Amino acid sequence: MKKKPTLGIYGFTGCAGCQLSLLDCEDELVDLFSAADIKVFYEAMSNNDDDALVDIALVEGSINTNKQLHELKEIREKAKVLVAFGSCANHGCVQAMALGDGKWEQRFKQVYGDTKFTVAIPREAQPIHKFVKVDAFIPGCPPSKIQMLRAITQLLFGNKPTYTNSPVCLECKFRENECLLNDGKLCLGPLTMGGCTAPCPTHNTPCIGCWGIIEEANHIAELKLLKEKGFKIEDIIRRFRMFGGSEIVEKIEKLMEVAK
Ligand code: SF4
Ligand code: SF4
Ligand code: SF4
Repeated sequence: MKKKPTLGIYGFTGCAGCQLSLLDCEDELVDLFSAADIKVFYEAMSNNDDDALVDIALVEGSINTNKQLHELKEIREKAKVLVAFGSCANHGCVQAMALGDGKWEQRFKQVYGDTKFTVAIPREAQPIHKFVKVDAFIPGCPPSKIQMLRAITQLLFGNKPTYTNSPVCLECKFRENECLLNDGKLCLGPLTMGGCTAPCPTHNTPCIGCWGIIEEANHIAELKLLKEKGFKIEDIIRRFRMFGGSEIVEKIEKLMEVAK
């Protein structure tokens, strides 16, 4: 009988919602546990084999301490394929919204004063690719069930996950929503990777880009459109920062230069 691929599901700083969204797939969990030899699943198992070599490591969360950084590097050494699982791991997410502004130490001192940390020395939150090679990613905060299960299935068969090249707007249109931009609400749907099925605009709430920026889009045309609608560049950047960390900001700033 063919050996099952080994899987480790690890978690660093975040709300643990990505692991929870996997646990919520109740109808499919038996299939998952049958298809893979799960060595580590922090949120679901107590007998984790932290020393196990794994074929696939799903890593949730950003890196916020030196201890986590050390553990992440160990996971990288043990895993054949390392996957950034969710927005915290991919972009840093909310805890990295001010990443790179040079004021982290100042903010940290305001909250913690002169507290001495001895076990897990804190550091500015950063996505995992800043420290280790990442082979694949699963987007979302948290990832959607369909996209996540499809990605994990592709990984278990030895393939890289594939994703839609369309933005949230397409799924929003499929759901026959009125466009929020026409109501003067800043929605990042035109620039955000699809796959979530547009739950936010469907509930009359603008998309805030939690899936990350879409790679293959006419970004400049979309940014010009948002500008024409009267939205300010700094507001677009501020909104993208919430989930996208500093890299997305740098990207938008460069695009804005071209879009002028
Ligand atoms: S990506 Fe979102 S759901 Fe996942 S751990 Fe981070 S905050 Fe939670
Ligand atoms: S509401 Fe947002 S996601 Fe929907 S079509 Fe308009 S811009 Fe796109
Ligand atoms: S609509 Fe936007 S903010 Fe809402 S889940 Fe999808 S990507 Fe995230």
